[in-house]
Amino acid sequence: MFKMQKYQRIAKKIYQLLPQYEDMTDEQLQQQTAILRTKLETGNHLASLLPEAFAVVIEADKRVLGLTPYYVQVLGGIALFFGNIAEIKTGEGKTLVATMPLYTRALLGYKGNYLITANQYLAERDGQSMGKVFEWLGLTVGIGGSDDDDFETKYRLYNADIIYTTHSKLGFDYLFDNLGSELSEQVVTRFNFAIIDEIDAVLLDGAQTALVISGSPKVQSNYYQISDWFVKSLQKDDYEYSDDKRRVWFTKSGLLKIAQYFDIDDIYDQQYIDLYRHIVLALQANYLKQKGRDYVVDKGKVLLLDVVNGRTMPGVKMQGGIHQAIEAKESVEVTSETKILGTISYQSLFKQFKSLSGMTGTAKTDEKEFMETYHLEVMSIPTNKPTQRVDESDKIYVSNQTKIEQSIEAVKQGIRDRRPVLIETGSVSMSDLYSLVLLQHKIPHNLLNAKTAVREKQIIKDAGRAMSVTLATSMAGRGTDIKLTNEAKNNGGLKVIGTERMTSKRIDNQLRGRSGRQGEPGESVFFVSLEDKMIVENSPKWVRRTRKSLERKIADKKLDSNTKLNSQRFKKVMDKAQKKFGNAEIQSRKNTLAFDTILSGQRERIYTARNKVMAGDQGYFEVIMTQSIRRVIEKFCDDSKNISYEAIADFVFNNMQSDYPLKDILSVKKEELNKKRVVDFLNQLSEDLLKKSLNRIRNAQQLNHFKKLVILRAIDRAWVDQLDYLQQLKNMVNGRGMAQHKPINEFGKEARRHFFDMEDQIYTNIFRSMMLSAIIIKSDGAIDIEFP
Ligand code: ADP
Ligand code: MG
Repeated sequence: MFKMQKYQRIAKKIYQLLPQYEDMTDEQLQQQTAILRTKLETGNHLASLLPEAFAVVIEADKRVLGLTPYYVQVLGGIALFFGNIAEIKTGEGKTLVATMPLYTRALLGYKGNYLITANQYLAERDGQSMGKVFEWLGLTVGIGGSDDDDFETKYRLYNADIIYTTHSKLGFDYLFDNLGSELSEQVVTRFNFAIIDEIDAVLLDGAQTALVISGSPKVQSNYYQISDWFVKSLQKDDYEYSDDKRRVWFTKSGLLKIAQYFDIDDIYDQQYIDLYRHIVLALQANYLKQKGRDYVVDKGKVLLLDVVNGRTMPGVKMQGGIHQAIEAKESVEVTSETKILGTISYQSLFKQFKSLSGMTGTAKTDEKEFMETYHLEVMSIPTNKPTQRVDESDKIYVSNQTKIEQSIEAVKQGIRDRRPVLIETGSVSMSDLYSLVLLQHKIPHNLLNAKTAVREKQIIKDAGRAMSVTLATSMAGRGTDIKLTNEAKNNGGLKVIGTERMTSKRIDNQLRGRSGRQGEPGESVFFVSLEDKMIVENSPKWVRRTRKSLERKIADKKLDSNTKLNSQRFKKVMDKAQKKFGNAEIQSRKNTLAFDTILSGQRERIYTARNKVMAGDQGYFEVIMTQSIRRVIEKFCDDSKNISYEAIADFVFNNMQSDYPLKDILSVKKEELNKKRVVDFLNQLSEDLLKKSLNRIRNAQQLNHFKKLVILRAIDRAWVDQLDYLQQLKNMVNGRGMAQHKPINEFGKEARRHFFDMEDQIYTNIFRSMMLSAIIIKSDGAIDIEFP
């Protein structure tokens, strides 16, 4: 491959330069940062300085950490520098690889260079260890810490040359930045370069849940319960699924039942929209969301499960009412819905980086998606030592029960061989089941799943000891590698046992990759059955028929139940089922992304507008205020119905002055009422009122501040409503039948229309705030504003 050759040439250059740096004293080496920076300032291109910069880090890594990057690590570092996804196997030392491109990128002096990790523990571990090198070389390092950092701490963090943090911390801080009213209080302002560690987990597996900052509770709806009762009474033909089982909607008979049950002729009628929304939510909660897969119920609370690591996410709720619908489904207390103040998906967050790259042990299988969705190319970096791990082909059985029995036999064999064993399940419920079976067989084991987040580190440490048995959900423990004891190594290394095909080949590979790191011995094998959910749901009909006939043969004792199905035919069935499922996942991610792109476009416009206001001056505020007065009044007067005393009075009371004397409303005869007269009158009145109100603020700075707050607040209130609307709209369009509608198109059209309405709303909000705000001047001269 052309690119690879280019990178190899660069690597060669690095190694040619290296002896020069090896000969330097510590002091000389440390001075290189300043020297390189000067070279950059005098017009040298960063890429042309790459060999020198990399050589400096390599030598510093050696002196500070005692680790000399291997050739393949250097190659990986180059791939990252140029914005690729480097596929580097687990245990090969990705943490060290990142030091080279991070240092080089940070040299430019632009801030905003990130190493994004999947969790806080990894950010701290890697930031602290690798940070030593950067600091030694004279750069500053920030580590994203707890969520409640004060401004100073945050400012220091984001002002560092290199930042180690998690994707969620970065996202939340970014959202919070855009809720404030001072530009100088924004901290996440630079998106220069990022390396996302375990990028497939972050961008593919975790892509479905967007970050959300929620605000005050909304008025509670009482439709949840009744909608749930209704939906539970439905028959199978009252609703219908999309092919990928990710959407569900009412059929004709379902709609008919709604009409009967709620005694309504037309549920699509505007007046029933809220009820209809709740019925759709109940349908989705009951027939799309699964306990144990999507959420668990714990002490009367619905807790979402993080798909990435199978952990519960306390405090995180699905938006748009679906969380409440699930609570109704599970008969626990329905919590209140909250308004969304800000939301962003990880895709949109990362798209802001000028240069983005990533690393993981498993990306090649999904390179097409990475390219299509993120324009990131995957480059496979060879391992330092050849892989010794033996990946056995699947052991296929007819029944789930035999499969479990046989896999337990394999565990026992592993223990007899005095090897560590790692059992990987696809879900929390499967892992709970296995745990029971292991106990029945008196096999002590550690459980690594949703409930044991705190002990994760320790468990992984133990998992490399001879005869230890660890049971984990597929995504747990990413980023922490299992180190083998000498005894374990001598006995054949870690034995990985998969209890089913996972949701993609990539995740299968991820699990296999837990074993055989750095050329150590190891083994991996998957146990599957024709009864596995993945197979049942994603295979052609003949597979089911064949299973039935095999089951009969077993019942008639014509076939031993322990028989392995070895034929090529069954192996293909497994691959195909997994592929089909994987394609549905890809489609669903693309779908999420399509919805998000629309939302993102709107969010960007709002944030840009806010930033402009925050940076704005007197003149700019003036323009906006004049514009909103003109637009609001014109819009009102454009409607001929409004050219009447009643309508005008109503408008004035509600938007301008609640105690305006009625007799003054118009000093014109009824016959002379026309649009122009009304416009003039309202313009004059608003001018008078505004003057009166603003005259109270003497201090020019305070006046400016007041205007800024009025405008920001107007934008924020309208935007919060818009976000709320978009959430509901998304659920609604997804709950309509496929035949007539393409959800995303409908969403796009409606969202755009509503955005224009929102702009009107912003002008109205500004108008009302200017007219109706109470300005209270306190004794010390400070002002308090009571907004309408
Ligand atoms: P990965 O993230 O690729 O799974 P890690 O960065 O966690 O791997 O590194 C795994 C182990 O390899 C760590 O203990 C690390 O210290 C060690 N390691 C990495 N690079 C080197 C190297 N060049 N020489 C020696 N040990 C290394
Ligand atoms: Mg790692």
